[in-house]
Amino acid sequence: MRKALFYCIRAFGAWQTAGAIDPLPVLVLQYRTHKRIVGGALFVWMVIMRHECRHLNPYNLTFEELRTLLAEWGEPAYRARQVWQWLYRHLVDDADAMTNLPKTLRGRLTETFAFGVLTPVTELQSTDGHTRKWLLRLPDGEHIEAVLMEYDTRNTACISVQVGCAYACAFCATGQMGLMRHLTAGEIVAQIVHIERVLRAAGERPADGGHALTNIVFMGMGEPLSNYRETLKAIRILNHRDGLSFGARRMTLSTVGLVPAIRRLAEEPFQVNLAVSLHAPRDDLRTALLPINAQYPIADLMEAVRAYIHTTHRRVTFEYAMIDGINDDVALAHDLGRLLQGMLAHVNLIPLNAVPGSLWQGSPREQVRAFAQVLQETYNVPVTVRVRRGIDIAAGCGQLYAQVERRGRSIVPLDAYPTHAEAARTAARQHSS
Ligand code: SF4
Repeated sequence: MRKALFYCIRAFGAWQTAGAIDPLPVLVLQYRTHKRIVGGALFVWMVIMRHECRHLNPYNLTFEELRTLLAEWGEPAYRARQVWQWLYRHLVDDADAMTNLPKTLRGRLTETFAFGVLTPVTELQSTDGHTRKWLLRLPDGEHIEAVLMEYDTRNTACISVQVGCAYACAFCATGQMGLMRHLTAGEIVAQIVHIERVLRAAGERPADGGHALTNIVFMGMGEPLSNYRETLKAIRILNHRDGLSFGARRMTLSTVGLVPAIRRLAEEPFQVNLAVSLHAPRDDLRTALLPINAQYPIADLMEAVRAYIHTTHRRVTFEYAMIDGINDDVALAHDLGRLLQGMLAHVNLIPLNAVPGSLWQGSPREQVRAFAQVLQETYNVPVTVRVRRGIDIAAGCGQLYAQVERRGRSIVPLDAYPTHAEAARTAARQHSS
């Protein structure tokens, strides 16, 4: 019995922490050697699943999955559209508010779904009033961040796709946590529902009844292309015409440069935007800043991006965090210009939003200007300098989590990575000499 309990807890833990991973294989693997024990564990697991299934995340279903579920319940086909519209047009968080549904169906929806997927733990507003950031608790007790940036003509949500991240980029607070788990599509979608509700509560809704958010960037915690399946499922849900109907061209996926996933994305039917975190035009410096570069060096990355542009005919954005004295030398601007010259691409220069405890700082304004000038005037590469938003509320990816969510985990400052930091400084010194 103790062993059965052990396997059950292990399987349940795998399910909880891995999100999309099914624990069943864990139990099946043990079946040959411990038939009776595993049989017991499977029974307990099914009981747990039965309990959990009563509390599905409604935002985890595509329209087709919702239609299938309701058909299994014996509901007519048009009910799926009604429920979908309550979820994504009216953004209700209670089945009883779905007033055009019969009472029995409302009861069954209440029994089946947990509508409160995310619980806001902390909400911060920047002093300029244009950036808001939330630390949100997930049903398993993990936390993620979501940010709303309000501009004159648009509202942009920056959302998370994982709890933590496995890629350990040297300047990123999330990268210092390691990967806890992937988010499900429903947990990704729920962030948008939360932010859209906030905007509507503040009276921001266009006259045509559409969504108040205008843009979504997948640039919060985690690497979207390493949680490929759930991220794309979330895009399909957000894009569905009977729901939020969020145009794919208004969504941007950001990647650290996962070459196989970029090639795969090129074949998808969506017209989403792609942003590549480049941050350095030379391999030694980029590997020091983004360790994944050792696996997918710049030449391979550029080949994949060119293939992506060739297939999709879409312009790609290169993100470049400007770090004072590390990657902001004008010699590097020339390297970058040569790399991108003639490409259907543009560069976003972003002065670093420094990780707490880090000795690295964002580049001074004059340096950013000089860097941009070389790219634009010498190589004709389009450049925008992104305004740093929400510095006073730790709006950089993972920074609020690092401040609030410690729970005994070590969230180490950047300079606790001496190899990263020193390698980057050495590479920077070599390039400037
Ligand atoms: S920058 Fe992105 S890919 Fe790199 S560690 Fe942070 S979240 Fe992960």
